[in-house]
Amino acid sequence: MAKIETKFIEKKKNERIIGQISGKEKGPTLVLFGGIHGNEPSGVEALEHVFEKLKGSDLKIRGSIFGIKGNIPALIEKKRFLDNDLNRIWTHSGIDAIGRRNRKERSVEENELTTIHQLITEIFETQSPPYYFIDFHTTSSPTLPFITINDALINREFARLFPVPVILGIEEYLEGPMLSYINEKGYVAVGFESGQHFTEDAVTNTISFIWLSLIYSGIIDKEQIPDYKKHHKELSAAAKGNTIFYEIIHRHRITDSDNFKMFPGFSSFDKLPKGIAMANHNGEKITAYKDTIVFMPLYQVQGEEGFFLIRRIPQWILSFSAFLRRIKFDSFLASLPGISWSNSSREKLMVNLKVARFFSKPFFHLLGYRNRMVDQTHLILYNRERAAKNEMYKDAFWYNN
Ligand SMILES: [Zn+2]
Repeated sequence: MAKIETKFIEKKKNERIIGQISGKEKGPTLVLFGGIHGNEPSGVEALEHVFEKLKGSDLKIRGSIFGIKGNIPALIEKKRFLDNDLNRIWTHSGIDAIGRRNRKERSVEENELTTIHQLITEIFETQSPPYYFIDFHTTSSPTLPFITINDALINREFARLFPVPVILGIEEYLEGPMLSYINEKGYVAVGFESGQHFTEDAVTNTISFIWLSLIYSGIIDKEQIPDYKKHHKELSAAAKGNTIFYEIIHRHRITDSDNFKMFPGFSSFDKLPKGIAMANHNGEKITAYKDTIVFMPLYQVQGEEGFFLIRRIPQWILSFSAFLRRIKFDSFLASLPGISWSNSSREKLMVNLKVARFFSKPFFHLLGYRNRMVDQTHLILYNRERAAKNEMYKDAFWYNN
């Protein structure tokens, strides 16, 4: 496959803002990130391309568009990160701790986080809602282009507009991705993995995705973009018509000291038969424990996940879970013995496992609860649904409530 030249990254090395355009008319704010991982330049290249087109156009823009570069030092070195993974340090406690240190005491990525965090804060202060955040990535293996989201209904509804598969609930397995931080504030946030690192296809898919997101966020009218159908068709073809929602059922975790080697030939979304040999991990052969679908197999040195396994979520479960959330079924749950709200904003549910052990993890997933923290007898469940700022998006054409 053709390798891309990262001409914009060489040329405009130290520029954080790829582009910033505001229309005359007030409207939504779309914030697009590329290169949060330094070995994933496709997002930056695609954003440069689209902003060039936008600047020279007479398209009517409503609201504002921002293109922001992620990990600049790592992009220059073409490495995922230099000191720590910039997409794993966005926890509230982590951000507070970073804020207390000065520039010299911080790692490369902690300084990058500080700058980006400041930018996001300024955007909230100066730009008008509704806010949309999109983060562009690529993967080390070949893959269909796909979306990852935290499972709030506003994210599902926005994500389903794009003709690509959607993965729910990856945040349950990852500590501190940037989009989870933005999601906890209640805004629509979508990750788009456009293809394999450094490939032409990954750039083309991202360009199409950017044009579609300009339309779907309400910033540019569909009629104004003559290539709208072409972008939609090409993205759909790249995803082989797959618009299925999947959930993650297994993560194969690895550490820096591990010797992990994925066997060659696996692509994301490949169906695997039970027993197939997938990888070598510290001399041990890892096989599929059942018929399954592989997701994000690791073919690079840096990373904390060897691979994931996923399964399709049936449509009736998607609909049923949306229904349960709309009627706020968890309010009823909280009146049962062993279950209570753990804070006044009702974003966290405390479950006493001794009393309420009959409730399973998939059941809480239906209600939008994802992250879990367990002590001896208690489970704390975080609800992205209760944190979501649904009211902010109620006039969007895609909003369904
Ligand atoms: Zn990435």
